[in-house]
Amino acid sequence: MSLDVSRWTIDDVQEALRSRRASAQEICAATFARIATENPKNNSFLTLTEERAMARAAEIDRKVTAGEPLPPLAGVPLAVKDVILTEGIRNTCASRILGNFIAPYSATAVERIEAAGAIIVGKVNCDEFAMGSSNENSAFGPVRNPHDPERVPGGSSGGSAAAVAAGMAVAALGSDTGGSIRQPASFCGVVGVLPTYGRVSRYGLVAYASSLDHIGPFGRSVKDAATVLAVIAGRDPLDSTSAAVPVPDYLAALDDPVRGFKIGVPREYFAEGLGSDVRARVESGLAVLRELGCEIVDISLPHTEYAIACYYIIATAEASSNLARYDGVRYGYRTPESASLSEMYRKTRDQGFGTEVKRRIMLGTYVLSAGYYEAYYLKAQKVRTLVARDFSRAFERVDAIATPVAPSPAFRIGEKTADPLEMYLSDIYTITGNLAGIPGISVPCGSVPAPADGGSSDGRKLPVGLQLLARHFDEARLLRLAHQFEKARGEV
Ligand code: GLN
Repeated sequence: MSLDVSRWTIDDVQEALRSRRASAQEICAATFARIATENPKNNSFLTLTEERAMARAAEIDRKVTAGEPLPPLAGVPLAVKDVILTEGIRNTCASRILGNFIAPYSATAVERIEAAGAIIVGKVNCDEFAMGSSNENSAFGPVRNPHDPERVPGGSSGGSAAAVAAGMAVAALGSDTGGSIRQPASFCGVVGVLPTYGRVSRYGLVAYASSLDHIGPFGRSVKDAATVLAVIAGRDPLDSTSAAVPVPDYLAALDDPVRGFKIGVPREYFAEGLGSDVRARVESGLAVLRELGCEIVDISLPHTEYAIACYYIIATAEASSNLARYDGVRYGYRTPESASLSEMYRKTRDQGFGTEVKRRIMLGTYVLSAGYYEAYYLKAQKVRTLVARDFSRAFERVDAIATPVAPSPAFRIGEKTADPLEMYLSDIYTITGNLAGIPGISVPCGSVPAPADGGSSDGRKLPVGLQLLARHFDEARLLRLAHQFEKARGEV
């Protein structure tokens, strides 16, 4: 029988290599065989890097044969979101405007995972320039949820989450500006981590909203996500916003007790709009934390109601500035039909960007324009401070905060595309973490029946996640709590 690596963890890969039960090349080939059967069903990969991956796997096998020590991600098949540069490989940002753009250098996170032995199997689909919550804003078609092909995988890192959920990669890198790692992790039933702002270098991450963008890992277990985070975390001189804060040993602390932890439950996150099935799952998750000896405390984050408006002003303002560079001269696509320079700019951007990206550029330009700047952008910055202060105050009393990740499980493809505001509301519980710059995680918390909305999947089970948030740079506590939650929940 051929090798099935579709449910393997990083430990499984390492154990197989050490015991010589499988070589890195066999694991890599088995992964591409799996991709060949699964990817046509869910459209996760935009670019496959099989030749390069097999060559790297051969290098790992040479190390194994030579008896050299194996680095922490040796031979681990990993997918990278197509907004994170990998030298020499096409990087589209799921946009027509970068459809033929080859990355001239690698992101620091990519360099670090490759130095740690990971095998990049390909670049994965996402919303165009990471703008979206469903992966439907891709110029290369939507990704389908591995649990139900009629539903979205979440977004914007939909391809990263789906690749891990469908067994096409052991782990993945994604980016999170307002929930784009945690929400797809919740919808696809995998683990996704938002590291503290500054914990992971953004060098080589194509900028969407620079003050909110984070790179982070996906895995099938908390331990796997922790292993990848440990590799990519830490100061990078190439990103001036990366922090010189030492990276603790995340793995060593995973099994330390969590008894006595105070977990805040913000009442604003359980108000109107939260689906009753999701609420019930999250409440059962809180019961698991209680059984682990944690104390559940009612808290308030009073500025939550302003967070969506605040986020969609700041994110679009930054996006309109960041995306000015796609002018048909410096990168990627240029219209073949223009009579003047200004027409070339206009047509290139008109033909190159999709509808949602254009909407964001227009919104962002508007909120930054003279006369509106104070009323919108400046005010949003002040509200951002208030949202962040809510968290600092709460963390004087509690060690972590537990909330739903999203108000619903995965919704239908097409269900929210007609109403951008409804789509934006699906980020309600995740954008606050980015506004505050604190770390968060989505960890699987069981499943709920698909809403009975007339599709063929009525009654099918859909995963939902529990979101845990912690103080700046307190990923160690977050991972430890999530790891023990994951273990305990498996038993109940
Ligand atoms: N859905 C949010 C947005 O569209 C968040 C996206 C993200 O985190 N990249 O902006």
